Amino acid sequence: MKIYVLGAGSIGSLFGALLTRIGEDVTLIGRKEHVEAINNNGLMVVGVEEFTVYPRAVTETPPEPPDLIILATKSYSSAYALQCAKESIGENTWILSIQNGLGNEDEALKYTKNVLGGITTNGATLERWGVVRWTGKGITIIGNYPKGKGEFAERLVALFKKAGLEAEISESIAGWKWAKAIVNSAINPIGAIMEVKNGDILENDYLLTLAMEVVKEGCQVATQWGIEFDMHPMELLIETLKRTRENYNSMLQDIRRGKMTEIDFINGKIIEYSEEIGLKTPLNFALWSLVKAKESQTK
Ligand code: NAP
Repeated sequence: MKIYVLGAGSIGSLFGALLTRIGEDVTLIGRKEHVEAINNNGLMVVGVEEFTVYPRAVTETPPEPPDLIILATKSYSSAYALQCAKESIGENTWILSIQNGLGNEDEALKYTKNVLGGITTNGATLERWGVVRWTGKGITIIGNYPKGKGEFAERLVALFKKAGLEAEISESIAGWKWAKAIVNSAINPIGAIMEVKNGDILENDYLLTLAMEVVKEGCQVATQWGIEFDMHPMELLIETLKRTRENYNSMLQDIRRGKMTEIDFINGKIIEYSEEIGLKTPLNFALWSLVKAKESQTK
């Protein structure tokens, strides 16, 4: 399969490396330093598994349409990245988002109807240019966006499994995207504001109660929009906190590095969806405001 990874940073490089290892025709589209390192020394994976592969790496999306574009930028970069890649989105090209947050698939739908939604609980960080650390194995769930399953999604799940990823198909992927966004809308800002590990939220009654109230608020919005969950966000919250108890979440890491966070595509989107139907989400608004304040302090 001809695959472009659009936004080859941490998670995109991991997926790209695993797919290259099984002989797929992978092109990574990333930033100059990462691309140069890959072209000089290959792409090295360390952590859960250790290997080096030699995919094509470029800074601009090639014009020939691939079978699949894996969208793996941060959510705030999706619109621009897709705009730059539009020439390579052919009639038969599928776009799969493996990003967190809401709205990425809707952005892709502006260019094609062949859109897959995805969530992944694999963990990856860019250790240095050309080297990605696979920090934790997880599951990847994909499906036709917003719902349904099709032949291409089935093919892709088989390919992911062959590549060494645990993968599943869902007929209601929008439900998974919302469930993960709702869980992240609680864990990420609370962890970022309090500067604590996920396990600390689980063990502190005040923080856990707040996280559960934020999840309830998000669920009310999702329910009004007719979103159906395969797994209830409250269950996913507890499961995630237990599984990632040793982690500092990505929002806190972004703030510590002086980088922009994905808050506008997590709590921000929940607020937008609630406003559209006249609902109030005061907890999401409070967390969004505090994270925006923190972001502006580090600039
Ligand atoms: P990341 O390490 O920042 O990778 C994204 C990369 O894409 C960055 O190098 C970025 O460069 C680059 N990029 C942005 N626009 C581009 C463009 N137009 N052309 C080429 N490259 C471009 O982020 P990540 O941690 O992989 O996360 C990506 C998404 O996956 C997020 O939504 C995240 O929440 C989600 N996710 C991540 C993990 C994980 O473990 N890392 C797990 C599950 C889900 P700049 O930094 O210069 O913009």
